[in-house]
Amino acid sequence: MPSQSLETVVAEIAAEMAARPDRGQVATYIPELGRVDPNQFAIAVALPDGSVVCAGDCATFFSIQSVSKVFTLTLALGLAGDRLWNRVGREPSGSRFNSIVQLEHERGIPRNPFINAGAIAITDLILSGHKPREALAEILRFMQFLADDDSVYIDQAVAASEERTGFNNRALANFMKGFGVIENPVEYVLGVYFHHCAIAMTCRQLAKAGTFLAHLGKNPATGNSVVTAERAKRINAVMLTCGHYDGSGEFAYRVGLPGKSGVGGGILAVVPGKASVAVWSPGLDASGNSHLGRIALERLTARMGWSIFGAP
Ligand code: GLN
Repeated sequence: MPSQSLETVVAEIAAEMAARPDRGQVATYIPELGRVDPNQFAIAVALPDGSVVCAGDCATFFSIQSVSKVFTLTLALGLAGDRLWNRVGREPSGSRFNSIVQLEHERGIPRNPFINAGAIAITDLILSGHKPREALAEILRFMQFLADDDSVYIDQAVAASEERTGFNNRALANFMKGFGVIENPVEYVLGVYFHHCAIAMTCRQLAKAGTFLAHLGKNPATGNSVVTAERAKRINAVMLTCGHYDGSGEFAYRVGLPGKSGVGGGILAVVPGKASVAVWSPGLDASGNSHLGRIALERLTARMGWSIFGAP
């Protein structure tokens, strides 16, 4: 059992992170993200009674980027069920988040739903039968519902910035289209993808939004059932194995939780049965995952005995 309270541990970690000179590098390939001040840090832990323990810049909105892929996967599973796995695999790729190489060898089927290619294929699935505007509104509404907060929004400047520079994602989408894996017009799919990556949230909101994953698919505070217990278990499994791209093994080794990162510097991590945790620090490591975010989570699981692999 931890010897200190959660409040103390969270406050200590925020103070330790604020004092560190090593902050990683902010993403610059999306120019708008390159303008974010790297000297920011936030941590929020959402508990089953609906309370949230926060420290640092917990009320600051940031671009959740690929953390949104957890929620688009959840929506797409609701639409397609297990048929989804015919379009996207569920194995770690061992490659960078935006890699194209594996697609050529595997008939355009992306390795998993969290690398860019896989997330674009998932967006295509959500888009089918809808106008891009409707699909995007549904994703945003889902985030607002999960966070229990209508102030979650889409940062249009970030979306426009990625629309201008997203050549690599255009290549991925066109390559998959060539294999018949993408159904809808590529520019529609990318429009929805860039915009859902540009969803802006606070750490407090993101931690709340992940609560259903920590509690068998249900938010115990609101009573809202989001997915079945089995589906929550599956999503957590894919987060653990694929949520940090080629850094997934390292994240499991050091933190020991299902987690999903984004190039905005956010990470959502799930402590099954206990808590949903969001951390944010904009500087990234070599795999494109938040540098201080990972270190903060490593300290949290060590001090609280929260690793799913057993207390130290
Ligand atoms: N929108 C970003 C991209 O497609 C998301 C990548 C990420 O967060 N890892 O490049």
